[in-house]
Amino acid sequence: MKLRAAVHRRFTDEQGHRFVYAQPSAAILAIDANAARLLELFEGEGCEAELALRAAGVGDDGPRALRELVELGFVRPADERRVPAAELPPMPFPLATLVLNVTNKCNLSCTYCYEYGEDRLGPGRASKAPARMSDATARESIDFLFANAGERPVVSITFFGGETLLNVPAIQAAVAHAEAKAKSAGKRVHYSLTTNATLLEPELVEFLVAHRFGITISIDGDQRSQDRHRVFRSGAGSFDVIAPKIRYLVDRNRAARGRPIGARVTLTRDASSVLETYRYLVHELGFDEVGFAPVTADPSRDYALPSEAYERMLAEFATLAEDFVQATLRDEPHGFANLKDLLRELHAGVNKAHPCGAGLGLLGVSTAGELGLCHRFVESESHTVGDLESGIDEAARTAFLRAGHVDQKTECSTCFARPLCAGGCYHEAHVRFGEATRPNLHACEWIRGWTDLGLSAYARIAAGKPRYLSALEGS
Ligand code: SF4
Ligand code: SF4
Repeated sequence: MKLRAAVHRRFTDEQGHRFVYAQPSAAILAIDANAARLLELFEGEGCEAELALRAAGVGDDGPRALRELVELGFVRPADERRVPAAELPPMPFPLATLVLNVTNKCNLSCTYCYEYGEDRLGPGRASKAPARMSDATARESIDFLFANAGERPVVSITFFGGETLLNVPAIQAAVAHAEAKAKSAGKRVHYSLTTNATLLEPELVEFLVAHRFGITISIDGDQRSQDRHRVFRSGAGSFDVIAPKIRYLVDRNRAARGRPIGARVTLTRDASSVLETYRYLVHELGFDEVGFAPVTADPSRDYALPSEAYERMLAEFATLAEDFVQATLRDEPHGFANLKDLLRELHAGVNKAHPCGAGLGLLGVSTAGELGLCHRFVESESHTVGDLESGIDEAARTAFLRAGHVDQKTECSTCFARPLCAGGCYHEAHVRFGEATRPNLHACEWIRGWTDLGLSAYARIAAGKPRYLSALEGS
């Protein structure tokens, strides 16, 4: 019988132990040399089983190894059609997270900002929506989240902008209302926000720490890196304003044993080294975690990342991943957030039908109360999925999710990174191709290279410090 290997990635750890990551199941399995050889022979168009067993030179153990690969679904009849993934989960899908864009204004003018820059989807500074969400709309947003969360025991509320802290009253109104709703509904609430840190005052820090906010600060690194793009409208850099505020927040949060404070770094063409930036943010400013995101920009922008920059970025991520693995093996904490997230997904066997929760368990609310697929799509007329008053436009939501399903992205079907990527960010696809449901094929090499780094780190940690991975469960 002619057999064919499922789409997979084979990899080894430092000691030469072999593993396979299988795309259909998103499972990682340790394999022996015979199984590895057979998988290699069955790749592509496949091969007759007898021929492969002979060519592999696997001796008496061959049939057993092959039987196991077939039983695990790693090798299948060559003419078998792939079982399509379920098109959509039962709709209406209960909400887990609501992102409140409490303001569409910002006090910085970062050159690469998707909100106000040349790649925005919404009207940016010309927005006719209110500059700030009213307290009433903030409370209605909370009512809406609880009404659409189904049986979920925990809901998440994220505050976003513009600069989120330009509208503290709406945040405080939403939190007070959510506390009361959670009590009567018997649910728990997690709060988080993203800020540029320019407006973090001590009283506000106390409020955020008291409510155990997950706080992410958009910052690009040391003074030189930060002031390159993250500037006030006058052109003045923002580093001197934010550095003392961040130090104060980190100290207070640590003293109160709050949730980790994260930095989010936007990587542009001229960004400093990832390792240096990480070390500065963790060791000098005190961040618990640092996440890096390549800038989302039309390739013509002078800060956009050309293809060779992705190669450089991958090499730098590899260096930081090595730092992470070494620290983990020594039982020391490490805050490379991208890798921690990837390891969590690999360990959980995440197999995505959609790249992210946008439109599914997550929606964004504009200052006017309109619902968008996520925070980056609010005020984008073409991606509105209802409003607080009339509720979710389920027809629009379902149509988008159907079009964005990974099975619609034929180029992704033969990619081993599909369970984790599923085509990548809708917003980035919209900026690049004018169509949110297209796969981000410009970034495949980067995504596959990054997944390879994650697999290699996973294998080494699984061998040397397996309890680190167990601790990721449910974290
Ligand atoms: S976008 Fe590229 S990397 Fe992502 S799943 Fe599709 S083919 Fe793979
Ligand atoms: S569409 Fe992009 S920005 Fe929006 S939630 Fe998904 S990954 Fe994030």
